[in-house]
Amino acid sequence: MSQPADLAIFLTNDLTGISRGRAFPAADLMDRMHAGVGWVPANIALTPFGVIGANPFGPLGDLRLQPDLEAAGFHMSGVDGAPDLHAFLCDIVETDGSPWGGCGRGFAKKALADLAHEFGLTVKASFEHEFFLLGDNPIGDAAFTLQDFRSVQGFLGTLIAALSKASVYPEMVLREYGPKQFEVTMKPARGLQAADRAVTLREVTRDIARQFRQQACFAPIIDPTSVGSGVHVHFSLETVDGQPVTHDPTQPGGISAVVGSFVAGVLKHMPALCALTAPSVISYLRLTPHRWSAGFNCFGYRNREAGVRICPVDDTPGNDIAKQVHLEFRASDATASPYIVLGALIRAGLEGLRARMKAPPLVEGDPADLTAAELAKLGVQRLPESLPAALAELERDSVVSGWLPAPMRQGYHALKTAEMARVSALDPAAQCALYARYY
Ligand code: GLU
Ligand code: MG
Repeated sequence: MSQPADLAIFLTNDLTGISRGRAFPAADLMDRMHAGVGWVPANIALTPFGVIGANPFGPLGDLRLQPDLEAAGFHMSGVDGAPDLHAFLCDIVETDGSPWGGCGRGFAKKALADLAHEFGLTVKASFEHEFFLLGDNPIGDAAFTLQDFRSVQGFLGTLIAALSKASVYPEMVLREYGPKQFEVTMKPARGLQAADRAVTLREVTRDIARQFRQQACFAPIIDPTSVGSGVHVHFSLETVDGQPVTHDPTQPGGISAVVGSFVAGVLKHMPALCALTAPSVISYLRLTPHRWSAGFNCFGYRNREAGVRICPVDDTPGNDIAKQVHLEFRASDATASPYIVLGALIRAGLEGLRARMKAPPLVEGDPADLTAAELAKLGVQRLPESLPAALAELERDSVVSGWLPAPMRQGYHALKTAEMARVSALDPAAQCALYARYY
């Protein structure tokens, strides 16, 4: 038998947050870096379950997956004697190389360019991931324990090594609160790199788990009665030449007026944003009050029930905290593309910056404990309670829907319609089981 070929793969992380692409002999890599590989417009309407929803593209048209030379890409170590796989993160472009409107990565790129052009700012971000380690393993139900950690330390150590090798700069790994749940965090990165690293982290984590005959499952929830897995987006703003602008000790919560405006834009559009950042049917089993996810579009200081939270810093006297102060957007999960999440957050923030919106009030305590009148006074709303409700918010909020280029809007509508139809007859537990197979 001949040796398996050394392969490279060009990937796009699509509107479902799933990486898809085409592989080829690694020997052709130099040529392919210019030529890319072929891609098909109708793929934009692929549901997580692998079926293409009814879309306007049909069999027509051609595109390319074009690797971005500035993106790091990553290696996946060969399993069972196979050579390594070299993965490259790509933009979806027209055959002449110009951007295609259905590309999530392009959507984020454009939002970042507008933020830099209009305000001289960029975003520094880190996507914090939770996942369930499924399979035949000895993990118990004891959160944060040394015992559970030790029971899969081989996997966790290998994971951290693989993430470092993939230039993801892992920070911490912990046995999270939910049964068989873990969390892995990484250092913040500027601009698009933050989203590229989120894609890389998910794929490398799944890959290492596979090598240990396990499944790293990034579905937002696997048991409707238990806690979910979020993808919290930690972010701060800085000038394009690297000066932090998030901190101002004279303002409430220590957040500068400019970042306050950015947050105001995010919260104003958050009900519609959910359709993009928490975009699956089961996202709404997680996005409920008292799960420490996000039930309301409110701003909170170190408050884990807030849609946007001001995170803690090491404020030991004498420490300069300007570079540490940052916020966390909690209403997202891994059924969303990190590119769409980053792009949508920036677009919403830009609305706040352009209108010089005032920083939203800080909600103290659990927003679920406030009366309707108190919520209204603070301008706080319950976030959508289902995917159809979130999609209706997206439709209603013409600012948010207006950000989406036509192919993305059409593809998204097609895939979400087919996705909802696929799971409509299933009860929540069966829906969770189905999504778990694909995430
Ligand atoms: N598991 C929670 C979520 O679904 C987050 C818990 C935490 O890390 O604060 O978002
Ligand atoms: Mg966590």
